[in-house]
Amino acid sequence: MKHIAEHKDNAESIIEHAGFSFLYIRNLSPIPVEEVQYHSAVIIEVKNYDFVRLMVSSIRANLSPDIYLKPIFLLKKDTYDDAVMDELADGSIKGLDELDLVVPTVERISTRVQDLTFTNSISFEAQIITKLITLLYTKEQKTVDPFPYVYSNIGYYYPLLSVNFQRTEETVALDILKIAEEEGILRSDYYDRVYLCSSCSSNHLSYREVCPKCSSSNTTPDDIVHHFPCGYVGPMQDFKNEIDDKLDCPKCNKRLKHIGVDYDKPSVIHDCNNCHHKFQDYHVNAKCLSCLSDKSVETLKPTEIKSYRLTKKGELAAIKGFVTTTKDIDEVIGTIKYDTFKTMLKYEIERLKQTEGQSNICAINISNSSQVYSKLGSDLQRGLLKDLVSVIRSNIRSSDVIAFESSSTIVMSMNAIPNKIAKKIIGEMVSLLNDLIKTSFEDLDVLFDTKVVALDYAKTHEAHLKELITDFS
Ligand SMILES: [Zn+2]
Ligand SMILES: [Zn+2]
Ligand SMILES: [Zn+2]
Repeated sequence: MKHIAEHKDNAESIIEHAGFSFLYIRNLSPIPVEEVQYHSAVIIEVKNYDFVRLMVSSIRANLSPDIYLKPIFLLKKDTYDDAVMDELADGSIKGLDELDLVVPTVERISTRVQDLTFTNSISFEAQIITKLITLLYTKEQKTVDPFPYVYSNIGYYYPLLSVNFQRTEETVALDILKIAEEEGILRSDYYDRVYLCSSCSSNHLSYREVCPKCSSSNTTPDDIVHHFPCGYVGPMQDFKNEIDDKLDCPKCNKRLKHIGVDYDKPSVIHDCNNCHHKFQDYHVNAKCLSCLSDKSVETLKPTEIKSYRLTKKGELAAIKGFVTTTKDIDEVIGTIKYDTFKTMLKYEIERLKQTEGQSNICAINISNSSQVYSKLGSDLQRGLLKDLVSVIRSNIRSSDVIAFESSSTIVMSMNAIPNKIAKKIIGEMVSLLNDLIKTSFEDLDVLFDTKVVALDYAKTHEAHLKELITDFS
């Protein structure tokens, strides 16, 4: 039932099998990575490892889920193992006749991809975290372990994450892991510590004993000899003669007999061949093989390497879409945390039980947020949110609060006013927001949806919030 359709310059083949379309990438025949999105899975022939690394990395490092989440299988006849490539791929086969073996994996990944919600992330960090957790989810994998890797600039590589970074930017992966842990998406265990160059963060270092005066590594060590009978202490060189390999004491002229009996070598002295300084205690320098800086080991940056596990919250974030880190949103001035908003709402409902006043919660949702956020870089995204918040702020009372429910939904309280007034205010707010967008952002269509919910003390705060945002999710 299998047929191989070949086109272009034979460089790429498409294999239809079991209802799936496999893109077969032959050795040293690169294909444009965009091609990957049109197929169910990719098979890469393993012969030249540099080529395999290039192809696998370009797929996993792509920013489009249609590409980076695609199942990858390595076709390898020998047993060569590259643990990092194996981690990035989804399995391996020995020949094209073994395709049946990987069909269940393709099925499983395609099904799990359907569970995911893709949104544009507000920050680069959130975008990379999304990539990591969606890959973990589709691979049904919970661990993010560091792999010792010679191609890594920092010595350890987190394949599914580090693949997004150039060699010189690999430490960013560590920052991202830290943020993901703070968000409760991953939790960590200590694994190892590495020492990184203070100038360029590389771990490719050459350690040498150097002269404390001139930092030259061109030094010659010499034993120090202590002659017991006369008490003379001096470098071995002073005891040598030109005739034989015996040692004679330069002070008392006696021939040395047995180490430990009439003499000892209590320490070593170093002779600098560059500045001729003699010294006992050398310095240890680390020469960075990437940027060539050559500094004392004291200046290196000790960096903890941890292994990570996806939490339940992380798994849910993969499914629901992870748009912002708490940090991104906390940075928008004039807002409070969503959790705090919930707590304040709870108290307001309690208060209404006593007073029977009228209060409201309102939401403004950017209904085309994916388009908006994909048009704007992360700086502009943050700028937009900041502007929106400042317009909202100036239209509500100072006792009312604003929070982000998500990167596309802003919620606020409008306490102690009738529902009708709240609706009127929010209508005016949207027209002000539209004016703002027109003047501040060129060619940007931002569509706003609004909702106002009057507080009802017979209902819980969760029920109110559900009603408020249900139309937007
Ligand atoms: Zn002597
Ligand atoms: Zn020296
Ligand atoms: Zn360096």
